[in-house]
Amino acid sequence: MDTRKIPFARPELDDDLRAAVLKVLSGTTLVHGPATHEFETKFAERAGVAHAITVSSCTAGLHLGLFVHDIGPGDSVAVPAITHVATAHAAEFCGAKPLFVDVEPDTGNMDAAALTEAVQTRPNVRAVTVVHFLGLPCDMAAINAAAAKAGAFVMEDCAIAIDATYAGRKAGGLGLLGCFSFYPTKHMTTIEGGMVTTDDDGLAMKIRARRAFGYDKMLGERSRPGIYDVNALGYNYRMNEVEATVGLSQLRHLDGWQVKRAQNYVALRNALLEIDELAVFAPAKGQAKSSHFCLNIVLPKDGTVSRDAVIDQLQAAGIGTSVHYPKALPLMKYYQAKYGYRVGQFPNAEWLGEQSISLPVGPHIVEEDIRYMAAHVKQAVYQARSSRA
Ligand SMILES: *Cc1c(COP(=O)(O)O)cnc(C)c1O
Repeated sequence: MDTRKIPFARPELDDDLRAAVLKVLSGTTLVHGPATHEFETKFAERAGVAHAITVSSCTAGLHLGLFVHDIGPGDSVAVPAITHVATAHAAEFCGAKPLFVDVEPDTGNMDAAALTEAVQTRPNVRAVTVVHFLGLPCDMAAINAAAAKAGAFVMEDCAIAIDATYAGRKAGGLGLLGCFSFYPTKHMTTIEGGMVTTDDDGLAMKIRARRAFGYDKMLGERSRPGIYDVNALGYNYRMNEVEATVGLSQLRHLDGWQVKRAQNYVALRNALLEIDELAVFAPAKGQAKSSHFCLNIVLPKDGTVSRDAVIDQLQAAGIGTSVHYPKALPLMKYYQAKYGYRVGQFPNAEWLGEQSISLPVGPHIVEEDIRYMAAHVKQAVYQARSSRA
Protein backbone atom coordinates (compact mmCIF):
# COMPACT_ATOMS: atom_id res chain seq x y z
CA MET A 1 0.00 0.00 0.00
CA ASP A 2 1.32 3.44 -0.90
CA THR A 3 1.51 5.75 2.09
CA ARG A 4 -1.39 8.18 2.31
CA LYS A 5 -1.59 11.46 4.22
CA ILE A 6 -4.81 11.62 6.26
CA PRO A 7 -5.13 14.54 8.70
CA PHE A 8 -7.34 14.04 11.75
CA ALA A 9 -9.31 17.17 10.86
CA ARG A 10 -9.23 19.71 8.06
CA PRO A 11 -11.29 22.90 7.97
CA GLU A 12 -13.15 23.18 4.64
CA LEU A 13 -12.65 26.75 3.39
CA ASP A 14 -13.64 27.77 -0.14
CA ASP A 15 -13.51 30.81 -2.42
CA ASP A 16 -17.09 31.83 -1.59
CA LEU A 17 -16.13 32.05 2.06
CA ARG A 18 -13.01 34.06 1.30
CA ALA A 19 -15.01 36.45 -0.91
CA ALA A 20 -17.66 36.92 1.78
CA VAL A 21 -14.97 37.71 4.37
CA LEU A 22 -13.29 40.23 2.03
CA LYS A 23 -16.65 41.97 1.61
CA VAL A 24 -16.96 42.40 5.38
CA LEU A 25 -13.42 43.74 5.50
CA SER A 26 -14.24 46.27 2.76
CA GLY A 27 -16.95 47.78 4.97
CA THR A 28 -16.92 49.38 8.39
CA THR A 29 -19.31 47.19 10.41
CA LEU A 30 -17.02 44.73 12.12
CA VAL A 31 -19.07 43.91 15.23
CA HIS A 32 -22.79 44.23 16.13
CA GLY A 33 -23.72 43.74 12.47
CA PRO A 34 -26.09 41.87 10.18
CA ALA A 35 -23.93 38.73 9.78
CA THR A 36 -23.99 37.99 13.50
CA HIS A 37 -27.76 38.46 13.56
CA GLU A 38 -28.33 36.24 10.51
CA PHE A 39 -26.01 33.55 11.86
CA GLU A 40 -27.97 33.47 15.13
CA THR A 41 -31.32 33.25 13.31
CA LYS A 42 -30.19 30.44 10.99
CA PHE A 43 -28.55 28.53 13.80
CA ALA A 44 -31.62 28.71 16.04
CA GLU A 45 -33.73 27.37 13.16
CA ARG A 46 -31.33 24.53 12.57
CA ALA A 47 -31.14 23.56 16.24
CA GLY A 48 -34.90 23.87 16.67
CA VAL A 49 -34.65 26.34 19.57
CA ALA A 50 -36.13 29.78 20.24
CA HIS A 51 -32.82 31.57 20.79
CA ALA A 52 -29.25 31.28 19.56
CA ILE A 53 -26.67 33.77 20.86
CA THR A 54 -23.21 34.08 19.34
CA VAL A 55 -20.26 34.07 21.72
CA SER A 56 -16.49 34.18 21.33
CA SER A 57 -16.05 30.45 22.13
CA CYS A 58 -17.84 27.46 23.58
CA THR A 59 -15.79 28.02 26.75
CA ALA A 60 -17.20 31.56 27.00
CA GLY A 61 -20.71 30.13 26.55
CA LEU A 62 -20.21 27.52 29.27
CA HIS A 63 -18.92 30.23 31.60
CA LEU A 64 -21.85 32.55 30.85
CA GLY A 65 -24.34 29.72 31.36
CA LEU A 66 -23.16 29.35 34.96
CA PHE A 67 -22.36 33.04 35.55
CA VAL A 68 -25.86 34.29 34.69
CA HIS A 69 -27.23 31.83 37.26
CA ASP A 70 -24.99 33.46 39.89
CA ILE A 71 -23.17 30.22 40.50
CA GLY A 72 -20.24 30.90 42.79
CA PRO A 73 -18.29 29.85 45.88
CA GLY A 74 -20.13 27.19 47.85
CA ASP A 75 -21.84 25.80 44.73
CA SER A 76 -21.00 22.63 42.82
CA VAL A 77 -21.41 21.85 39.14
CA ALA A 78 -21.63 18.20 38.12
CA VAL A 79 -19.48 17.42 35.07
CA PRO A 80 -18.39 14.16 33.42
CA ALA A 81 -15.02 12.81 34.56
CA ILE A 82 -13.79 12.73 30.98
CA THR A 83 -14.29 15.73 28.72
CA HIS A 84 -12.57 18.77 27.31
CA VAL A 85 -11.12 20.67 30.24
CA ALA A 86 -13.33 23.70 29.39
CA THR A 87 -16.39 21.91 30.78
CA ALA A 88 -14.93 21.86 34.30
CA HIS A 89 -12.95 25.11 33.99
CA ALA A 90 -16.26 26.98 33.53
CA ALA A 91 -17.22 26.00 37.09
CA GLU A 92 -13.78 27.04 38.38
CA PHE A 93 -14.09 30.48 36.68
CA CYS A 94 -17.14 31.09 38.90
CA GLY A 95 -15.38 29.98 42.06
CA ALA A 96 -17.60 26.88 42.16
CA LYS A 97 -16.39 23.31 42.52
CA PRO A 98 -16.73 20.70 39.79
CA LEU A 99 -18.34 17.46 40.93
CA PHE A 100 -16.85 14.81 38.67
CA VAL A 101 -19.17 11.97 37.66
CA ASP A 102 -17.99 8.76 36.00
CA VAL A 103 -19.16 7.91 32.47
CA GLU A 104 -20.68 4.97 30.62
CA PRO A 105 -17.85 2.83 29.25
CA ASP A 106 -19.53 2.27 25.86
CA THR A 107 -20.30 5.95 25.11
CA GLY A 108 -18.15 8.19 27.33
CA ASN A 109 -21.36 9.99 28.37
CA MET A 110 -22.15 10.95 31.97
CA ASP A 111 -23.71 7.95 33.71
CA ALA A 112 -27.12 8.99 35.05
CA ALA A 113 -26.96 6.46 37.90
CA ALA A 114 -23.51 7.73 38.89
CA LEU A 115 -24.91 11.29 38.79
CA THR A 116 -27.73 10.33 41.15
CA GLU A 117 -25.19 8.81 43.51
CA ALA A 118 -22.73 11.71 43.26
CA VAL A 119 -25.27 14.45 44.04
CA GLN A 120 -26.08 12.65 47.29
CA THR A 121 -22.53 13.33 48.48
CA ARG A 122 -22.93 17.10 47.92
CA PRO A 123 -25.99 19.11 48.82
CA ASN A 124 -24.97 22.15 46.79
CA VAL A 125 -25.11 20.95 43.18
CA ARG A 126 -26.86 23.72 41.26
CA ALA A 127 -25.99 22.78 37.69
CA VAL A 128 -25.26 19.65 35.71
CA THR A 129 -23.17 20.16 32.59
CA VAL A 130 -23.41 17.13 30.33
CA VAL A 131 -21.17 16.55 27.33
CA HIS A 132 -22.49 14.68 24.32
CA PHE A 133 -19.27 12.70 24.04
CA LEU A 134 -17.88 12.71 20.48
CA GLY A 135 -21.34 13.75 19.34
CA LEU A 136 -23.59 11.07 20.84
CA PRO A 137 -26.28 12.62 23.07
CA CYS A 138 -26.44 11.54 26.70
CA ASP A 139 -29.40 9.61 28.08
CA MET A 140 -31.23 12.90 28.61
CA ALA A 141 -34.43 11.47 30.10
CA ALA A 142 -32.42 9.94 32.93
CA ILE A 143 -30.04 12.91 33.27
CA ASN A 144 -32.83 15.50 33.34
CA ALA A 145 -34.71 13.45 35.94
CA ALA A 146 -31.62 13.08 38.15
CA ALA A 147 -30.81 16.79 37.86
CA ALA A 148 -34.39 17.84 38.63
CA LYS A 149 -34.37 15.65 41.72
CA ALA A 150 -31.21 17.42 42.89
CA GLY A 151 -32.74 20.84 42.11
CA ALA A 152 -30.13 21.56 39.44
CA PHE A 153 -30.52 22.85 35.88
CA VAL A 154 -28.94 21.06 32.91
CA MET A 155 -26.51 22.71 30.51
CA GLU A 156 -25.40 20.79 27.42
CA ASP A 157 -21.83 21.01 26.18
CA CYS A 158 -22.64 20.51 22.48
CA ALA A 159 -19.16 21.53 21.28
CA ILE A 160 -19.01 18.49 18.99
CA ALA A 161 -22.68 17.53 18.86
CA ILE A 162 -24.19 19.84 16.23
CA ASP A 163 -27.19 18.10 14.60
CA ALA A 164 -27.05 15.13 17.00
CA THR A 165 -30.52 14.08 18.12
CA TYR A 166 -32.18 12.55 21.15
CA ALA A 167 -35.78 11.33 20.76
CA GLY A 168 -35.93 13.34 17.54
CA ARG A 169 -34.86 16.64 19.14
CA LYS A 170 -31.59 18.32 18.29
CA ALA A 171 -28.74 18.79 20.75
CA GLY A 172 -28.85 22.28 22.24
CA GLY A 173 -32.55 21.92 23.02
CA LEU A 174 -32.30 18.95 25.37
CA GLY A 175 -31.62 20.81 28.62
CA LEU A 176 -32.08 24.39 29.81
CA LEU A 177 -29.33 25.65 27.52
CA GLY A 178 -26.62 24.38 25.18
CA CYS A 179 -23.15 25.60 24.12
CA PHE A 180 -21.57 24.92 20.72
CA SER A 181 -17.99 25.37 19.49
CA PHE A 182 -16.77 26.57 16.10
CA TYR A 183 -13.07 25.94 16.72
CA PRO A 184 -11.33 24.93 13.44
CA THR A 185 -11.36 21.16 14.10
CA LYS A 186 -15.08 20.93 14.88
CA HIS A 187 -17.93 20.07 12.45
CA MET A 188 -17.95 23.68 11.22
CA THR A 189 -15.80 26.66 12.11
CA THR A 190 -15.87 30.42 12.61
CA ILE A 191 -12.08 30.25 13.35
CA GLU A 192 -12.78 30.82 17.07
CA GLY A 193 -16.38 31.09 18.17
CA GLY A 194 -19.36 29.55 19.87
CA MET A 195 -23.14 29.67 20.21
CA VAL A 196 -25.47 29.43 23.19
CA THR A 197 -28.95 28.01 22.56
CA THR A 198 -32.04 28.05 24.76
CA ASP A 199 -35.83 28.11 24.64
CA ASP A 200 -35.99 30.30 27.75
CA ASP A 201 -36.69 33.95 26.81
CA GLY A 202 -35.48 35.46 30.08
CA LEU A 203 -32.28 33.43 30.10
CA ALA A 204 -31.57 34.42 26.48
CA MET A 205 -31.90 38.11 27.40
CA LYS A 206 -29.52 37.72 30.32
CA ILE A 207 -26.93 35.91 28.22
CA ARG A 208 -27.17 38.55 25.47
CA ALA A 209 -26.60 41.37 27.94
CA ARG A 210 -23.88 39.73 29.97
CA ARG A 211 -21.80 38.58 27.02
CA ALA A 212 -21.44 42.34 26.32
CA PHE A 213 -20.49 44.12 29.57
CA GLY A 214 -24.02 44.00 31.03
CA TYR A 215 -25.21 46.90 28.82
CA ASP A 216 -28.92 47.61 29.16
CA LYS A 217 -29.05 48.70 25.50
CA MET A 218 -27.13 47.08 22.64
CA LEU A 219 -25.61 49.29 19.93
CA GLY A 220 -28.67 49.20 17.65
CA GLU A 221 -31.08 49.90 20.51
CA ARG A 222 -29.61 53.21 21.61
CA SER A 223 -31.63 56.26 20.56
CA ARG A 224 -28.68 58.51 21.33
CA PRO A 225 -25.21 57.23 20.44
CA GLY A 226 -23.08 56.27 23.40
CA ILE A 227 -25.91 56.46 25.93
CA TYR A 228 -26.49 53.31 27.91
CA ASP A 229 -26.59 52.02 31.46
CA VAL A 230 -25.15 48.86 32.99
CA ASN A 231 -27.38 46.86 35.26
CA ALA A 232 -25.24 43.77 35.78
CA LEU A 233 -21.66 42.56 35.61
CA GLY A 234 -20.74 41.29 32.15
CA TYR A 235 -17.80 40.15 30.02
CA ASN A 236 -16.79 40.89 26.48
CA TYR A 237 -17.58 37.50 24.94
CA ARG A 238 -18.91 38.71 21.58
CA MET A 239 -18.41 37.18 18.14
CA ASN A 240 -17.37 39.59 15.38
CA GLU A 241 -18.75 40.02 11.85
CA VAL A 242 -15.87 38.22 10.12
CA GLU A 243 -16.37 35.15 12.31
CA ALA A 244 -20.14 35.19 11.81
CA THR A 245 -19.63 35.49 8.05
CA VAL A 246 -17.35 32.45 8.10
CA GLY A 247 -20.02 30.62 10.12
CA LEU A 248 -22.80 31.51 7.65
CA SER A 249 -20.73 30.22 4.76
CA GLN A 250 -19.96 27.01 6.65
CA LEU A 251 -23.64 26.47 7.49
CA ARG A 252 -24.46 26.37 3.78
CA HIS A 253 -22.25 23.28 3.40
CA LEU A 254 -23.03 21.55 6.67
CA ASP A 255 -25.80 19.22 5.42
CA GLY A 256 -23.47 17.67 2.86
CA TRP A 257 -20.62 17.34 5.34
CA GLN A 258 -22.87 15.64 7.89
CA VAL A 259 -23.95 13.02 5.32
CA LYS A 260 -20.31 12.23 4.58
CA ARG A 261 -19.43 12.01 8.27
CA ALA A 262 -22.25 9.54 8.90
CA GLN A 263 -21.22 7.38 5.93
CA ASN A 264 -17.54 7.45 6.88
CA TYR A 265 -18.34 6.58 10.49
CA VAL A 266 -20.42 3.53 9.60
CA ALA A 267 -17.98 2.31 6.94
CA LEU A 268 -14.94 2.64 9.19
CA ARG A 269 -16.73 1.12 12.16
CA ASN A 270 -17.89 -1.88 10.13
CA ALA A 271 -14.36 -2.45 8.91
CA LEU A 272 -13.00 -2.43 12.48
CA LEU A 273 -15.65 -4.55 14.22
CA GLU A 274 -13.86 -7.80 13.41
CA ILE A 275 -10.82 -6.82 15.52
CA ASP A 276 -11.51 -8.66 18.77
CA GLU A 277 -9.17 -6.52 20.85
CA LEU A 278 -11.08 -3.31 20.14
CA ALA A 279 -14.18 -1.75 21.61
CA VAL A 280 -15.59 0.48 18.85
CA PHE A 281 -18.06 3.24 19.75
CA ALA A 282 -21.52 2.91 18.16
CA PRO A 283 -23.20 5.80 16.28
CA ALA A 284 -26.48 5.42 18.19
CA LYS A 285 -27.75 4.21 21.56
CA GLY A 286 -31.34 4.14 22.82
CA GLN A 287 -32.96 7.37 21.64
CA ALA A 288 -29.63 9.05 20.86
CA LYS A 289 -28.15 9.52 17.38
CA SER A 290 -24.61 10.81 16.95
CA SER A 291 -23.26 13.79 15.01
CA HIS A 292 -20.25 11.59 14.15
CA PHE A 293 -17.43 13.86 15.27
CA CYS A 294 -14.85 11.05 15.14
CA LEU A 295 -14.70 7.30 15.75
CA ASN A 296 -13.29 6.12 19.06
CA ILE A 297 -11.60 2.74 19.35
CA VAL A 298 -10.67 1.56 22.83
CA LEU A 299 -7.88 -0.92 23.58
CA PRO A 300 -8.21 -3.59 26.28
CA LYS A 301 -8.20 -2.56 29.94
CA ASP A 302 -5.49 -5.08 30.76
CA GLY A 303 -2.94 -3.07 28.78
CA THR A 304 -2.00 -6.01 26.53
CA VAL A 305 -2.01 -3.61 23.57
CA SER A 306 0.11 -0.48 23.97
CA ARG A 307 -1.71 2.68 22.88
CA ASP A 308 1.54 4.55 22.26
CA ALA A 309 2.72 1.77 19.93
CA VAL A 310 -0.55 1.84 17.95
CA ILE A 311 -0.52 5.65 17.64
CA ASP A 312 3.13 5.60 16.54
CA GLN A 313 2.42 3.04 13.82
CA LEU A 314 -0.60 4.91 12.53
CA GLN A 315 1.39 8.12 12.51
CA ALA A 316 4.17 6.42 10.53
CA ALA A 317 1.51 5.39 8.00
CA GLY A 318 0.39 9.03 7.64
CA ILE A 319 -2.84 8.58 9.61
CA GLY A 320 -3.75 11.50 11.86
CA THR A 321 -5.31 10.44 15.15
CA SER A 322 -6.35 12.22 18.30
CA VAL A 323 -7.29 11.25 21.85
CA HIS A 324 -10.53 12.27 23.59
CA TYR A 325 -9.39 12.99 26.15
CA PRO A 326 -5.81 12.31 27.21
CA LYS A 327 -6.66 11.76 30.91
CA ALA A 328 -9.66 11.58 33.17
CA LEU A 329 -10.14 15.23 34.15
CA PRO A 330 -9.82 14.71 37.94
CA LEU A 331 -6.33 13.32 37.24
CA MET A 332 -5.16 16.31 35.20
CA LYS A 333 -2.47 18.08 37.23
CA TYR A 334 -4.52 21.19 38.05
CA TYR A 335 -7.54 19.27 39.36
CA GLN A 336 -5.53 16.50 40.95
CA ALA A 337 -3.40 18.97 42.90
CA LYS A 338 -6.35 21.15 43.90
CA TYR A 339 -8.76 18.42 45.03
CA GLY A 340 -6.56 15.39 45.67
CA TYR A 341 -8.28 12.85 43.43
CA ARG A 342 -6.73 9.39 43.29
CA VAL A 343 -6.33 6.83 40.53
CA GLY A 344 -9.21 4.35 40.56
CA GLN A 345 -12.02 6.73 41.56
CA PHE A 346 -13.37 7.07 37.99
CA PRO A 347 -12.64 3.68 36.40
CA ASN A 348 -14.51 4.18 33.12
CA ALA A 349 -13.20 7.68 32.48
CA GLU A 350 -9.69 6.50 33.35
CA TRP A 351 -9.90 3.58 30.91
CA LEU A 352 -11.04 5.86 28.06
CA GLY A 353 -8.33 8.37 28.95
CA GLU A 354 -5.61 5.76 28.88
CA GLN A 355 -6.69 3.42 26.12
CA SER A 356 -8.81 5.20 23.52
CA ILE A 357 -7.74 6.49 20.12
CA SER A 358 -9.89 8.75 17.93
CA LEU A 359 -9.94 8.18 14.17
CA PRO A 360 -11.06 10.76 11.59
CA VAL A 361 -14.40 10.53 9.76
CA GLY A 362 -14.70 14.15 8.56
CA PRO A 363 -15.81 15.18 5.07
CA HIS A 364 -12.16 15.15 3.91
CA ILE A 365 -12.04 11.35 4.33
CA VAL A 366 -12.64 9.35 1.13
CA GLU A 367 -13.46 5.66 0.62
CA GLU A 368 -9.86 4.71 -0.07
CA ASP A 369 -8.84 6.37 3.23
CA ILE A 370 -11.30 4.12 5.07
CA ARG A 371 -9.83 0.92 3.61
CA TYR A 372 -6.34 2.22 4.30
CA MET A 373 -7.10 3.20 7.91
CA ALA A 374 -8.84 -0.11 8.64
CA ALA A 375 -5.92 -2.13 7.27
CA HIS A 376 -3.36 -0.12 9.24
CA VAL A 377 -5.32 -0.22 12.50
CA LYS A 378 -5.56 -4.03 12.22
CA GLN A 379 -1.86 -4.31 11.55
CA ALA A 380 -0.91 -1.85 14.30
CA VAL A 381 -3.08 -3.53 16.93
CA TYR A 382 -1.73 -6.97 15.97
CA GLN A 383 1.90 -5.79 16.12
CA ALA A 384 1.45 -3.81 19.33
CA ARG A 385 -0.03 -6.90 20.94
CA SER A 386 2.64 -9.34 19.74
CA SER A 387 5.48 -7.00 20.65
CA ARG A 388 4.10 -6.86 24.18
CA ALA A 389 3.70 -10.65 24.52
C1 LIG B 1 -13.72 21.94 21.79
C2 LIG B 1 -14.50 21.71 22.99
C3 LIG B 1 -14.71 22.73 23.93
C4 LIG B 1 -14.06 24.08 23.82
O1 LIG B 1 -14.53 24.81 22.73
P1 LIG B 1 -13.92 26.26 22.43
O2 LIG B 1 -14.85 26.82 21.38
O3 LIG B 1 -12.54 26.03 21.89
O4 LIG B 1 -13.93 27.05 23.66
C5 LIG B 1 -15.51 22.46 25.01
N1 LIG B 1 -16.07 21.25 25.20
C6 LIG B 1 -15.88 20.24 24.34
C7 LIG B 1 -16.53 18.91 24.58
C8 LIG B 1 -15.08 20.43 23.20
O5 LIG B 1 -14.87 19.42 22.36
